[in-house]
Amino acid sequence: MAIEINTDVQFIKGVGPKLGAVLAKRGIHTVLDLLEWYPRTYEDRRAAREIASLKPHQVVSIQASVIAVRSMNLGRSRRKMYEILVGDNSGRIACKYFRVPYRGYFERFESGMSVQVSGKVTLYRSRLEFHHPDVHPVRESDESEDRLIPLYTETEGLSPSKLRKIIDTALRSLPEETKVDEVALEKKTYQRQPPEGLGENLPAWVLDKYRLIPRRQSIKEIHQPPVEQVDEFLKFRSPAQRRVIFEEFFKLEFLLAFRKQGLQKEKAHVLKGTGQLTRPFIKQLPFELTSAQKRAFAEVKNDLTKPHPMHRLIQGDVGSGKTMVALLSALHAIEAGAQAAIMVPTEILAEQHFKNAMKTLSPMGVEVVLLTGTSKGKERARIRHEMKTGRSQLIVGTHALIQDDVEYDNLGLVIIDEQHRFGVEQRNRLKQKGASPHFLIMTATPIPRTLAMTVYGDLDVSVIDELPQGRQPIVTRKTFESKRDKVFGFVDDQIRKGRQAYVVYPLVEESEKLELKNAQDEFEKIKVRFPEHKVGLLHGRMKPEEKDAVMREFRDNHVQILVATTVIEVGVDVPNANIMVIEHAERFGLSQLHQLRGRVGRGKYKSYCVLVLGYAVSEDSQRRAEIMEETTDGFKIAEADLEMRGPGEFMGSRQSGLAGFKMANLVRDVLILQDARQAAFDVVARDPELKYKEHRPLQKLLNKEILG
Ligand code: ADP
Ligand code: MG
Repeated sequence: MAIEINTDVQFIKGVGPKLGAVLAKRGIHTVLDLLEWYPRTYEDRRAAREIASLKPHQVVSIQASVIAVRSMNLGRSRRKMYEILVGDNSGRIACKYFRVPYRGYFERFESGMSVQVSGKVTLYRSRLEFHHPDVHPVRESDESEDRLIPLYTETEGLSPSKLRKIIDTALRSLPEETKVDEVALEKKTYQRQPPEGLGENLPAWVLDKYRLIPRRQSIKEIHQPPVEQVDEFLKFRSPAQRRVIFEEFFKLEFLLAFRKQGLQKEKAHVLKGTGQLTRPFIKQLPFELTSAQKRAFAEVKNDLTKPHPMHRLIQGDVGSGKTMVALLSALHAIEAGAQAAIMVPTEILAEQHFKNAMKTLSPMGVEVVLLTGTSKGKERARIRHEMKTGRSQLIVGTHALIQDDVEYDNLGLVIIDEQHRFGVEQRNRLKQKGASPHFLIMTATPIPRTLAMTVYGDLDVSVIDELPQGRQPIVTRKTFESKRDKVFGFVDDQIRKGRQAYVVYPLVEESEKLELKNAQDEFEKIKVRFPEHKVGLLHGRMKPEEKDAVMREFRDNHVQILVATTVIEVGVDVPNANIMVIEHAERFGLSQLHQLRGRVGRGKYKSYCVLVLGYAVSEDSQRRAEIMEETTDGFKIAEADLEMRGPGEFMGSRQSGLAGFKMANLVRDVLILQDARQAAFDVVARDPELKYKEHRPLQKLLNKEILG
């Protein structure tokens, strides 16, 4: 049987159904899946490393012998940690595992056995160790000596040498070139794929301009690296890796460029403002808009007056006044005779937006309604009626805004505030409710440029890079639990001066009951500690009326200390509150800490944020706290966060576009990303219909995306 890239792996000579099943468990079904299962790193067999020479953060591979294999309980929990202790003539190092890679993994090792350990050297409590490295037994006869050996993720039932062998067989058996089925391409029918080798899929001019090596060569070299490129390979900077990384980015950016072009072709209402609402609104503000706000609003206005839907992202730090720009944009749409909707992630925030809008906009004659999950029965029917008939002009709400039974009269603009928690799918559902409304998306905290280019790459971006005047930087200090009493003493002083404080707790577990218990326990303790002040409690499991009551009391300073979980993370605005104590700060990510901290420093008072770290916190947690002390610049914090956590975690559930990368790394490969984006947008600009022959392989990419 002839092998092509879509052939089932089991048909590669030497694989068969049994090994095929092993590979399938790893998500490897086709020959291409196998070839795109890239090595995690490489081992330079010519230069054996000694344990004593290892340095923190290095990604290395060493040869050593097993000294002991053991397991121990983690704290009082039932979870176990496993350890393989290895050594060579120069020293010893522990390989630690907090989960078992697969059953029987540890049973394979016995003391005295010669093994290969590959992974990242970690510094933990001033000792070097490996966390979750790949360890596999080595037989002396395994490989010839002077080679650069690719190291793959360990897999049960598949030895590294066997894996290298079948990859080699696959590479040899693939046809030299992809034969393109011109008829299928012409008719755009792809039910039957033409036999495919590793033919070139990027346009020749792109290869030329960005000096990329051919696809086939790059994949071959990645699995069988030329030994003289050892340093480049270890740094992911070899021509072969660069080509593959470029291609991964290019594919995503190409789809984004295409989608963006598609959006520009859609029709939307031209929303020409009259200034009738926006002008008096700006005039009555107690402050002057910052020039960054003016610029962002001008960009929005310009988009709204075009016959194509706007898709714009407003990036700005916490407190930079994004919400103000959102309101202005909504007024502009309303002046033009359309409805505007503001969609936010939480009920508290929806209620807050609604109240602010009522206070400032109702007197101007704007009809504002609130629609959330808790609007029920007659009330809900009334709101829906008003939305449907066009009586309501500004609709504020949560996910309820996109539910099936909700209709609009003339939805012209949708504003999605604190976008983090909304996905593309929700965006599409909203779109179905209007004749292609304009979209304005506001980020909760800044997103690093590289991520904006990949995840929001089809949007136009306005950056608000200026804070309103007179904001004092928030003084941030990290401390430890043992100093809590001193911290509370300081809180007490500030309250006596008339200020208010937040005390924030992490959700220890996702469970409802536990969340309640934690916040409630701490609430009781704090009440005892501050007998002279009124203490309020706010957590996600409270009824909206209860939350609302507490927030109102806090806003009106009837409550001085608000004990809260992260429900206050987003958007809450009480300018008199100037201290935030974050308990167990080690459990929060950097962007979340920054977002939380943004709840203070909103008024004219000097503000403070205290990060209370628990006992035995990791190096990373300490580092996060230090970054928080060093800067209040959300853009810098976002970059650091991305670097520490990686894009998947940073973006939470929005990572769809990022999951496709098998080799590319957003932190390491920024420069390649920029090139790939440029190239992809150039292709779409030059050949928007993809008529050129050399762009045909790209057509297939689009079809794959559309047909799934
Ligand atoms: P963001 O949504 O970017 O976090 P907000 O729009 O909530 O910020 O603004 C934070 C606070 O700053 C609000 O109290 C708002 O009224 C105020 N504010 C907004 N723009 C300005 C400005 N240009 N000058 C002074 N204060 C402003
Ligand atoms: Mg906001």
